[in-house]
Amino acid sequence: MTKSLRKKLTISYIIISLFSVLLIAIISNFVLEVQFREYVKKNIVNKSEEIVSSIEKNYFNGSWNVFAIENIGVKALENGMIIKVVDNDGNVIWDAKQYNSGQCQNMITHYSSNMMRRYPNFKGEFKEDVHRAEYNSKKIAEVHIGYYGPYYFTDNDILFLNTLNGAIIVVSILTIAISILLGRLISNRISSPIVKVSKSANKISEGEYEKIEIVSDIGEIDELINSINNLSEKLKNQEYLRKRLTQDVAHELRTPLSTLKSHIEAMIDGIWEPSKDRLKSCLEEAERLNGLVGDIYKLTKYENEEKLNLTRFNLGELLQNIIMNFEKSMIDKGLLVITDIKDVYIYADRDKIAQAIINLISNAVKFSKKGGKIIISTVQSEKNIKVFIKDEGIGISQKDLPYIFERFYRADESRNRDTGGAGIGLSITKSIIDLHKGDITVKSKQNEGSEFIITIPIMHE
Ligand code: ADP
Repeated sequence: MTKSLRKKLTISYIIISLFSVLLIAIISNFVLEVQFREYVKKNIVNKSEEIVSSIEKNYFNGSWNVFAIENIGVKALENGMIIKVVDNDGNVIWDAKQYNSGQCQNMITHYSSNMMRRYPNFKGEFKEDVHRAEYNSKKIAEVHIGYYGPYYFTDNDILFLNTLNGAIIVVSILTIAISILLGRLISNRISSPIVKVSKSANKISEGEYEKIEIVSDIGEIDELINSINNLSEKLKNQEYLRKRLTQDVAHELRTPLSTLKSHIEAMIDGIWEPSKDRLKSCLEEAERLNGLVGDIYKLTKYENEEKLNLTRFNLGELLQNIIMNFEKSMIDKGLLVITDIKDVYIYADRDKIAQAIINLISNAVKFSKKGGKIIISTVQSEKNIKVFIKDEGIGISQKDLPYIFERFYRADESRNRDTGGAGIGLSITKSIIDLHKGDITVKSKQNEGSEFIITIPIMHE
């Protein structure tokens, strides 16, 4: 069963804190009790020694200060110790049991019940230690000290232990409560951006390309947000390209297809004789359609393909080769080509750059007037290489100039129909130059000519 991240985090937080609090409570309780028992045992020994030494102080030259000894005995009795002092001749100087046997009995029962309540398996019994009392290093008496052994807790001891345990319990409960709160807080901080990201991702899959605006202070989540935003941006772009392409293609195909259709219909209906010329014009339309489909294929390829096959090559040499391939059509049109091309090695996609330049030179040839001039030159700077392709052809009007890189855009429809172009060449060129992070600009004047300038970075990062 899947649980939410928030639940999982909170539960694990609680488990960890419960476990550690319990462990700390048990260990500290155990250590404290052991230490306390040791302290109580030592205390009995210390108190016994104190009693013996105070009794010794009340002997002087063979006689006892019985009154003082009784004081000592009564005080000891209050602290749970039953004293009996017997001199060398076996005479009892003071005996707590004789003094108050009832109190002695009560006291032993009280401490036994104290111990049994705390440790139900406690094995205790009345114990009596015999100590030597000395005067000038000679034995003067035996001091019998009886108590509930091996050790006992007074009421104050029990109170102290209970307070300690209570404090440990309160601290444990507080710690658990705080950790539950902290757990919820932290898991909220982690899970709420994730929930938002997943909601946005769902929206993206439904075609709502919105940008996730939240910022997370968790590095990984921030990265996730950035990736989703990038993905959304790219999808949006793709979607736009796809829609536009379908629209443009439908629009472009409609005209030649309807011409073809009406021509064929007219021939079938017997309105037109299916003469060789008419069939030829039908074939031309079909060929135009074929060319258009080929161009569309190229365009989608370049617009969608973001991977460049980068190699180092001589751009000057490439330009010369391309110009050579145009030689025949240039001669046919009586064009003069002037070149000023330098050798320069660039790091780029050779085939794509060739395609971009072919399109520009092909336009220059296509739109040149018979006997015109085409000037092709390069200028190199530190980071870029500029290629200039200038013709003295028909030029482009100011109103068309901003649109010529748009797909299927042709300045002066009717005139361009004759040149056979579909208005895709410059779109392809621009896509290729954009892919190389380069730039393409145009200067043109109607009836005077045009100049296309492409700038390509020498090194592609
Ligand atoms: P096409 O396939 O029609 O040549 P392009 O995208 O290459 O499509 O060019 C778009 C339009 O820009 C052309 O139809 C033409 O009107 C204009 N154009 C492009 N290059 C030149 C040029 N060198 N001289 C004059 N007009 C040009």
